[in-house]
Amino acid sequence: MTATDNVHPQEIHKFGSRAEHWWDPNGEFKTLHDVNPLRLRFIQQFAELPGKRLVDVGCGGGILTEGLAKAGADVLGIDLSEDLIDIADLHGLETGINAHYQKISAESLAEQQPAGFDHVTCMEMLEHVPDPASIIRACATLVKPGGMVFFSTLNRVPKAYLLAILAAEHILKMLPQGTHDYKTFIKPSELCQSARNAGLELQGMTGIEYNPFSKKFSLGKDIGVNYIAAFRRSE
Ligand code: SAH
Repeated sequence: MTATDNVHPQEIHKFGSRAEHWWDPNGEFKTLHDVNPLRLRFIQQFAELPGKRLVDVGCGGGILTEGLAKAGADVLGIDLSEDLIDIADLHGLETGINAHYQKISAESLAEQQPAGFDHVTCMEMLEHVPDPASIIRACATLVKPGGMVFFSTLNRVPKAYLLAILAAEHILKMLPQGTHDYKTFIKPSELCQSARNAGLELQGMTGIEYNPFSKKFSLGKDIGVNYIAAFRRSE
């Protein structure tokens, strides 16, 4: 598989066609807005951000990218959706946040800028590509030795089907129907194996839990649905 093949065009279209709703904190992407402070907090437990050069892989409209930039990082957001790159750029201009965006695949950027970044983030994206291991390898190539790589994704266990698809998409309607496909979810053991094969060592993993009564997300021990992990590239 070549770099440009590792994409499901229908996934890019699915997200890109909703680009104008990206920054509505109560809209279709509310979940990403709600979890953003938590993932930023997790990232900051492992990485210093001020003055560091980061790349945010599969950045969408830039929710995490802007958060990283606000925390003082020099961030490049990359995505294959032109519509989302445009929305991210525009939002950055409106808010005065200094992030940069480029439509390029992780694999191509890794060829151009190996070890070009202090840290790499890739959130809620691995479950939308044909070959997640290729993205993981690209992230490992993009980061400098000793730098951190962060991934978040959904666990392929029945509980994640019940909560992330049945409850979130069909019952609570927190996400548009069809956002996720259970068979693309990734078990933590699979993520760790692919990361290890790419020279990344696990430093920490935490669940992103949802409480349907308080309607709040929190970081916790339960990695049975959505989880976030920190890896260090070996020196
Ligand atoms: N990381 C962002 C957006 C997650 S939504 C956040 O968590 O806030 C998933 C994103 O992955 C979408 O923006 C989609 O366009 C992007 N994506 C899907 N396949 C991709 C690929 N092969 N290369 C780059 N981006 C991809």
